[in-house]
Amino acid sequence: MANDANKSEAKVTGLRAPKPCVMCGKPSDRKFHPFCSKHCADLDLGKWLNGSYAIPVVEEDGAEFDEEN
Ligand SMILES: [Zn+2]
Repeated sequence: MANDANKSEAKVTGLRAPKPCVMCGKPSDRKFHPFCSKHCADLDLGKWLNGSYAIPVVEEDGAEFDEEN
């Protein structure tokens, strides 16, 4: 497994390349770091909110009518 050493060396990139947008993988913009745009930042925010709050799923297939009976 001597190849492993080579692999780890290749992993280290000394470039100060911007991290890819965590949402879509495009190069992130400094203004919206770590995202590429406000759009992706908003998407991520929504994702976190969704994790904390269960989005009320609209399941209105007449269920309410049944209860009123
Ligand atoms: Zn993005």
